[in-house]
Amino acid sequence: MKILVINAGSSSLKYQLFDMDTETVLAKGLCERIGIDGHIKHTPKNGKNVFEADMAFPSHSEAIAAVLKVLVDPDCGVISSVDEIDAVGHRVLHGGMEFSDSCVVDDACIDAIKRCIPLGPLHNPANLMGIQACQAVMPGKPQVAVFDTAFHMTMPPKAYMYAVPYEYYEKDDVRRYGFHGTSHKYVTSRAIELLGGRKDLRIINCHLGNGSSLSAVKDGKCMDTSMGITPLAGVPMGTRSGDVDASVVQYIMNRYGYTVDEMLNILNKKSGVLALSGVSSDFRDIDHAAAEGNERAQLALDKFAYEVRKYIGAYTAALGGVDAIVFTAGVGENSAEMRARILSGLEYLGVKIDPEKNKIRGQEIDISADDSAVRVLVIPTNEELMIARDTKALTEKK
Ligand code: ADP
Repeated sequence: MKILVINAGSSSLKYQLFDMDTETVLAKGLCERIGIDGHIKHTPKNGKNVFEADMAFPSHSEAIAAVLKVLVDPDCGVISSVDEIDAVGHRVLHGGMEFSDSCVVDDACIDAIKRCIPLGPLHNPANLMGIQACQAVMPGKPQVAVFDTAFHMTMPPKAYMYAVPYEYYEKDDVRRYGFHGTSHKYVTSRAIELLGGRKDLRIINCHLGNGSSLSAVKDGKCMDTSMGITPLAGVPMGTRSGDVDASVVQYIMNRYGYTVDEMLNILNKKSGVLALSGVSSDFRDIDHAAAEGNERAQLALDKFAYEVRKYIGAYTAALGGVDAIVFTAGVGENSAEMRARILSGLEYLGVKIDPEKNKIRGQEIDISADDSAVRVLVIPTNEELMIARDTKALTEKK
């Protein structure tokens, strides 16, 4: 079974084609500058040539058509006909309260994604464009929508309610939703497998990348997560502030005469470790500056580690203990120093890592010391594979 996974943004579209019999990637690529001019980079995994070219992409439909063309091209293709693609899986940011799982795309699903646009005004319209472009270019091909929020829908009300007037929840769907759900779901399932299949484990997942979020998981289900109604909440991120006292918004807006949009732009794009360090939003640049003695870069690293550690402490309390802590995404998978910095001070929980194992990169690994009371795992995330698995499960003819 072959599944095409699409992650459509407003002006870009990433894709991966999976052979689900072996769960391997046959090809992947990126269409950029959709609606502006257009550029495609296609990387086949069968030894054929990488294809890269400028191409006119007035809309997502032309980009999808170009993807299908390169996938069957004699020089850079990996399949002989588009008919070999059994189904298409789409990443969709916000499923609101409509979706607690992935869903086969039909008119009702599209209407529900549209109803979630006010909650995900930047991403959901772009995700929909990807879905509708596939419907136009591949009519009748089964499609599945996989939501970043879905995994978190098992949270109990005490975790997802905000203590603001209840009518905003009832009338306006204001509550915590959480994001990176596909990643949290993937690493949760891998952690359960790696730890012997026991589902009742209490797991704290740390997805630490440009955007970062943590989740508290019990019995394989999300009990709490750090992001909120949007991905702005939680720990500080590359350019996002994470949690701040909401009054900061009013105070700064009044002092500088900013509009709400300008203020939100500052909190989303000009805050986080970029703002603290004054150096970069990229953790590698900040590491480098800190190593050269830049005190604000060091502050950014310390603040990030401190906030992640506090969430681990909070989620340990929420779960009544912790059996495993999982690190994933760019920083979580690659930075041994940041993992050690986050975990230092958690010895009282019985967390102990093996410094030599912590140095190993690029693979799933248990980095805890033999006598650690808590397993500490590094699990490279694979959101695309998770989307392909859900798509297969929902479309496979039984
Ligand atoms: P995104 O949220 O965009 O998917 P990623 O999960 O790819 O982001 O994470 C990107 C972040 O990971 C960047 O800040 C990058 O600096 C960081 N990163 C990648 N490799 C390392 C490393 N070896 N050490 C420290 N940070 C790293």
